[in-house]
Amino acid sequence: MIAEVIVDIASGETDRIYDYLCDDDTVVGSRVRAPFGGKIVPGFVMRVKETSDYPQEKLKKILPCPDELPALNAECLALAEKLTARYRVPKALTLRLFLPAEMRTGKVRELTRNYAVLNLSVSEMKLSKTAKNQLGAAQYLEEHGKTDCAYLNTAFPGGVSALEKKGYVTVTKEQILRNPYKTIEEENVSRTLTPDQERAVKTICEDSRTVQLLHGVTGSGKTEIYLTLIAQCLKEGKSSIFLVPEISLTPQMLSQLRSRFGKNAAILHSGLSAGERFDEWWRLRTGEAKIAIGARSAVFAPMENIGVIIIDEEHDSSYCSETAPRYNTFDVALLRAKRNGCKLVLGSATPSVETYKRAQDNEFCLIELKNRINKRPLPEIVIADMRREVRRGNNGAFSGALKEEIEKCLADGNQAILFLNRRGYSQTVICKECGYVAKCEACDVSLTYHRDEKCLKCHYCGMKYNTLSACPDCGGIKLAYAGTGTQRIVADLQALYPNARILRMDNDTTSGKEGHYKILKAFSQHKADILVGTQMIAKGHDFPAVTLVGILDADMSLHFSDYRSGERTFQLLTQVAGRSGRAEEQGKVVLQTFDPENDVLRYAVAYDYKGFYENEISLRAAMAFPPFSKIVRVLITGEDDKKTLEGLRNVYVGLEELYTKEMDKFLFFNKMRAPIKRIQNKFRYQVLMRLADTSILPQIYDICAECRTRDVLVSVEENPANMS
Ligand code: ADP
Ligand code: ZN
Repeated sequence: MIAEVIVDIASGETDRIYDYLCDDDTVVGSRVRAPFGGKIVPGFVMRVKETSDYPQEKLKKILPCPDELPALNAECLALAEKLTARYRVPKALTLRLFLPAEMRTGKVRELTRNYAVLNLSVSEMKLSKTAKNQLGAAQYLEEHGKTDCAYLNTAFPGGVSALEKKGYVTVTKEQILRNPYKTIEEENVSRTLTPDQERAVKTICEDSRTVQLLHGVTGSGKTEIYLTLIAQCLKEGKSSIFLVPEISLTPQMLSQLRSRFGKNAAILHSGLSAGERFDEWWRLRTGEAKIAIGARSAVFAPMENIGVIIIDEEHDSSYCSETAPRYNTFDVALLRAKRNGCKLVLGSATPSVETYKRAQDNEFCLIELKNRINKRPLPEIVIADMRREVRRGNNGAFSGALKEEIEKCLADGNQAILFLNRRGYSQTVICKECGYVAKCEACDVSLTYHRDEKCLKCHYCGMKYNTLSACPDCGGIKLAYAGTGTQRIVADLQALYPNARILRMDNDTTSGKEGHYKILKAFSQHKADILVGTQMIAKGHDFPAVTLVGILDADMSLHFSDYRSGERTFQLLTQVAGRSGRAEEQGKVVLQTFDPENDVLRYAVAYDYKGFYENEISLRAAMAFPPFSKIVRVLITGEDDKKTLEGLRNVYVGLEELYTKEMDKFLFFNKMRAPIKRIQNKFRYQVLMRLADTSILPQIYDICAECRTRDVLVSVEENPANMS
């Protein structure tokens, strides 16, 4: 038999598929080792066939890997084919999504341990009295049975191997699964569903449509509904995929899942070590674990017989991939749901405008949860007009209203969360003499001052620079630190409230796989009074003692030049506000803004999603923005500016031809520099389009695929979440 093998998928930029001789029982999707260019490289069997176009005698033979199951199941292979065709990327790139990195690179480190067992009883052995270690090990084994060799080797050095040589002992290797969340305590609560939750579960199960949108206010108990659905699947022997937007959410969710589902729950996310991820992945592949939980990449979990797919916080922008293939998690989940004939449940307090429209159009089933659990009121949101604060001479980060509420909150022994969307100490370093702004050498963005580390950092590439004592342009020494970051807020707060215990949570404080977990745990155990953080504190957390949320700068995301900035702001404000007053005590939210009359803020303050949606959808219709059109950006990047420009020209010429032929399908067509001209030393250009009719999308993909070269990357993005 002949196997078509894809080799070298680790680098993944090109497809290298070769014919090899293989055994008759070779299974499609299985991992193999292939002789290639004098080396043995890892590969995967894509197809098995009778004959090859190459002369048989020239073909080499593949060596199998001793896996109990092929790494890729039929569903994953079929899905990979579909994605490869849809996004016009090499198959190798698509396959990477389905495999843990360790498996691709062939450096799979199954964690194994050696165990020794006796073959004879000690009395039957011929051992000299002076062989103390052999005697010791043998006696130990006789008393305790099978024992870890690591222990025996320390206690009786050399004993086991000598016994093995004599045939008295057999040593076997056993695979150990790493346990990535040893430190997570299981939270053991079982709840009976409220009538609202019962109704939601019933509708989801009974409605005939595939996609179910669960629109429930924050604190309405959506998680409990997801867990019930997963439990039902488990009872029927089916598996589930449960997607959550950010790693910071998973530990909390995981402890709930672990207590309820034990080892049936497996977690897949980038914060794990490669070995841990491999183990979790393999547990899912073998069916030992039946629930995959993780960020967007978990949508590729190697499962069969899926009973439900859940996308929590479906509006979150992290569900859009920003590397090739630039898939949308919803699209992949829908393909899998259809193939498995199961439900795809989307949950959110603030569904994306596009999703909600599809529910309004009856394509999706809409289930609404209008109340919090136990009819707890939503927190009251008060607006603090920062223009008035400035007029009163308050140039600080906190309004009078917020300071008053913080004091009250601290005096009552409650907790507060302060939200700001910038990390670091201050935003930029500006020379007051000449206007110089410190920028990253590799990226076209300004640097942020970090006081802890006494350095300037680029938030795009992570590069660190020394702080400046003088302006490098004019030599002036009047350097100003403009803007406010999370570090600065903490310093200011501490000065105002010297006795308050303050925690900070942002990208700088959460490194390591349990970074988030530790901060969240300390806060939930009330080891701090105030938590200051970026948008990672906005999502999903449930802290009963939090009665105050302060939103320091509600405007910051309103003025981005993105058609979705209103939507994003509404979502963010609603999410952050939702952290307050989740238990017995009424919560409060202080929202600071320079633009209090803004429509989006007014809808957010009133918790009026419908009002916001009606307003937004009519704006979108009037402007012909998505969902009434599709924005397509072709991004051309490369390290050599000239070659990249040439790439842009090629793409543009190809697309322009299409444009002239099919003008009625375009609403907008232009080429330009990308908003950020350079990131990580790569120059960036773009062709921006808005399509009234998406039937020409495949042609756009084809044109762009042809312009890809070794030096110039060309990627197509549909309704990109990030337009920088
Ligand atoms: P959401 O995800 O909709 O924001 P959560 O699922 O976090 O809401 O639930 C909010 C709170 O209500 C949590 O503290 C949760 O433990 C509690 N809760 C959920 N369902 C029930 C129930 N059936 N009975 C009692 N408490 C519940
Ligand atoms: Zn940089």
